[in-house]
Amino acid sequence: MHYFSNTLRENKRILILILLGLSIWAFLSFFLKANYNEKKNSYMSAELDSFKSKVFTTLEMYETFTEYIFYNDINTDKVLDLMAIATQSNDEQLQSLRWDLYDLLIEQYQLLQKYNFRQLHFILPGGDSFLRLHAPHQYGDNLLTVRDTIRIADQERRYITGFEEGRIFNGYRSVFPLFKDDHHLGSVEISISMASIMKVMASLYPSTALKFVLCKDMVESVVFDVEQINYTPAPFFPSYMLDKEVFQIYQDSLSTENYTTYSRIVEDIVRTNQSQINALKSFNTVVSYNDVDYMVAFLSIENLSHEHVAYLIGIYQAKTARIFGFQTFFREWLFVTLFFMLFFISVWIYDRKQKQLNHLACTDKLTRIMNRHRFLEIVEREVIQYQRYQRDFSVILLDIDHFKRINDQYGHNAGDDVLKQTAIILKSCARKQDAVARWGGEEFILQLPETGAAQAARVAERIRQAMADHLFVKGIRLTASMGVAAMSEVESQDIDVLVNCADEKLYQAKKEGRNRVVIYLRP
Ligand code: GH3
Ligand code: MG
Ligand code: MG
Repeated sequence: MHYFSNTLRENKRILILILLGLSIWAFLSFFLKANYNEKKNSYMSAELDSFKSKVFTTLEMYETFTEYIFYNDINTDKVLDLMAIATQSNDEQLQSLRWDLYDLLIEQYQLLQKYNFRQLHFILPGGDSFLRLHAPHQYGDNLLTVRDTIRIADQERRYITGFEEGRIFNGYRSVFPLFKDDHHLGSVEISISMASIMKVMASLYPSTALKFVLCKDMVESVVFDVEQINYTPAPFFPSYMLDKEVFQIYQDSLSTENYTTYSRIVEDIVRTNQSQINALKSFNTVVSYNDVDYMVAFLSIENLSHEHVAYLIGIYQAKTARIFGFQTFFREWLFVTLFFMLFFISVWIYDRKQKQLNHLACTDKLTRIMNRHRFLEIVEREVIQYQRYQRDFSVILLDIDHFKRINDQYGHNAGDDVLKQTAIILKSCARKQDAVARWGGEEFILQLPETGAAQAARVAERIRQAMADHLFVKGIRLTASMGVAAMSEVESQDIDVLVNCADEKLYQAKKEGRNRVVIYLRP
């Protein structure tokens, strides 16, 4: 037990070193992961912002364009006069006024169509459709309950713009209330379809494929029954529908190969990102397909009541995504982990070497039991224990009788063997907690913890008997003499004094004829 107490302390040091290493490794891993997440998040949100800005710049451009058309071509005396009459006419009169207005603006409308505008629609005060230049035979339906833009323009008498699903088509609508001399004359709507926006964006940003899907519930509840054929359920996207015209633009803008790839990608995202899709919010994600990274942005389109009604999906190759890919994090983490594994292995090797060196430094080369140096270290500690707790202990100093003769008679090697065998005999006579050491030459020493003089003398006697009984190499028979001293019997609590007392008694044993044990007792 004593013999190992140093090893215990060393193990503790190694343990602390390993724990420290593990903590640093865990901290670095955590830091790497946090850093990676932060980088990735900021990259992803920058990419989403850039996609949003592509869409919103296009919309902004159209809004400005729409205002220009309104003030330049629509809000004219001719149109306003005609509307003023319309507000006071019966159905029959309205019919002819409708065609007058049609004739007045048809050329203008055709020009607008070239710039992707779709609807030019006049509404009477109260919300009845007066003239759709894009569908002049469809009129008279009241739009207040189905169209927020028209309700706001008509009732709140203010300009309103935003995405709205209509009975015929969906898109961005701007509705202006009409006034002449402070008289409200209804409103006019100028709209661009989502298809138009997609066309413009396709030419502005050819490397971004755009896909548009609308909420099925909304399409089914708002769109005219006859217009429902313009929509088809979106594949692998339950509860969303495709606007066929928009989809056609998407399809036409892509090669067959890209079309297939993008379909797979969207299918994959829809399958794996259900929670994000169900949150009805914008998000983006990177998908690798055939070793190419694609950035896929889902931009949530909201109506005027800020309800999610559609997703505009942008897909493009993300060449810089790779550096934020998981592989990068994993590579860095692996590097750190390997570094620490090397560290742990070095600690382990160092520890083993240290233990080997320590063992060598404490061991007698010939007999493989502890040496004098180590023995003194142990007894030193035992003395301290004695000073504190008065726990008695004894030492037995042993010297082989006439050992010189063995060397002389049987040779030095035989002498060595005898020494080795003596060590074994001593070990076998001692308890596990006793320290057995080679004191030097053919002298051995034992330290017996918790053992008084009388008890130690019994152990010594047992050893003496065992030595005398043992048949050594080459049939050698020999004896040993021993001096025994207990700590409680000596004057000062000092190892040198204790060992000297034992030595004194050993000398006496020799003098008295050898092969005997002499105990030191307090005079
Ligand atoms: P005594 O009974 O008085 O102790 O007689 P002794 O011959 O044992 O005493 P002495 O001290 O005169 O002789 C000890 C001898 O032990 C001398 C030395 O050559 C021998 N010796 C010391 N170390 C070793 C060793 O490692 N191997 C061998 N073979 N002999 C050793
Ligand atoms: Mg001697
Ligand atoms: Mg001797």
